[in-house]
Amino acid sequence: MNHYQLKKQGTKFDFLSQDEMTALMKEYYEDRIAMASLKAKYKLPQNNNFEEQFPWEKTAETCTLCNCQVVVIPHHRNLYPNKPVCSNCGHINEGHCTCSSCLDMKRQVYLQEEKEREERISNQLHLEESVKIPFEKLTAEEKISLGMLVRNMSSEDLTYIVPLSSKENWKNSKDFVLPLYKSKILTVHPESDYSFIGIKENKFNETILSIELYKMKWNINVLKDDLSNYELYNYLARAEDQLKLTNEELFLYWKKIAKHEAQLYLAYNFDQVLKIEFKNDFAIENLLEYLTNHFSIGQIYNLIWKYTNNTLRFKEERQVTTNHIYNYLLKCIRNEAEKIIANSYNLGHFDKPKYIQESSFSDFFFSYILKANGQGYRITPSEFFEINQNNLDDTQEFVQFKTVGDYLNTYKFLSTNKEPFKDEEE
Ligand SMILES: [Zn+2]
Ligand SMILES: [Zn+2]
Repeated sequence: MNHYQLKKQGTKFDFLSQDEMTALMKEYYEDRIAMASLKAKYKLPQNNNFEEQFPWEKTAETCTLCNCQVVVIPHHRNLYPNKPVCSNCGHINEGHCTCSSCLDMKRQVYLQEEKEREERISNQLHLEESVKIPFEKLTAEEKISLGMLVRNMSSEDLTYIVPLSSKENWKNSKDFVLPLYKSKILTVHPESDYSFIGIKENKFNETILSIELYKMKWNINVLKDDLSNYELYNYLARAEDQLKLTNEELFLYWKKIAKHEAQLYLAYNFDQVLKIEFKNDFAIENLLEYLTNHFSIGQIYNLIWKYTNNTLRFKEERQVTTNHIYNYLLKCIRNEAEKIIANSYNLGHFDKPKYIQESSFSDFFFSYILKANGQGYRITPSEFFEINQNNLDDTQEFVQFKTVGDYLNTYKFLSTNKEPFKDEEE
């Protein structure tokens, strides 16, 4: 009530004697006599807001800010009494004050704290990128993932990797980005938006940052020869170097991509079709490991699609638990897969459903690394791997077919004889 610009004490009742004023105030506050009566009795010029014309009560205090007299400004009798306030600047000595000086000080304190917070974050981020990871120590998987990030997500001036921005993008990319972050190959760029970074201390007084990772810019924390940052980005973007991967390295990344794609589709079917919350547990991991050993991504789409429909019928016909439905779908896919393998049945390849978000990692791998001419979803990783293994002789260090493109050109007859690319519509 005291944070307004202080008014001056009113003078309209100044014609009253000291005694009359004292009597009036007693009748107003204590006896609570009607104001119309008081107005008539004392011949007052107004019949409301008497308190504005009452004298301010001086206290023994002075203002802690400007040293002026602290007063109590009379209150309306229906309201609570006012707190003592500085007659000059409006400051309240005790308790919560919102005078302009106090608000100003609070703002200064806030700005100072914010500055210190940002300095702590900045120091911590610079500390984390101070130890660079030698390029030679990177695994094939890490190199390929970096290649994708540089090619598709680097800033125009090639100084950082742009934020993934949405939680949806993060969900679809974190299988590839998180391992890079954990091994400090990617660090949070010091020019990121700090409003998405929290700061805490652990019990050893070490600074711990809690970070909304999908909002961060990324720094590539890798050292290669004496390449500048700009040269490093250019180097990573040229997939030629990453192509010098062993057959097995290619195979492992391909399987990772295949599992990732299958998992996205499986998650969609659980969440959207069966209305069961998808959780990527050991049973799923186990199934996807098995499927990607034997089938292309397109064939796995086929199996998931078919048995999601079966499971949906099963769910609608019978009253069963969520767990039951979950296990039913996994079991059906597994049984069918085993039957197809045992009997060498043909299984059609589905295209990637349009409602599943594009994955930049898959696109990069198939286009730049495998040069798969659009066939990446239709070849089983192990098929390419085994043919290459058989083609290796003692002197060859790298894969016989460096790319799926080479392989398709040479083994075209396979695709016609075995009809592995037969289209099926959903
Ligand atoms: Zn003051
Ligand atoms: Zn104040």
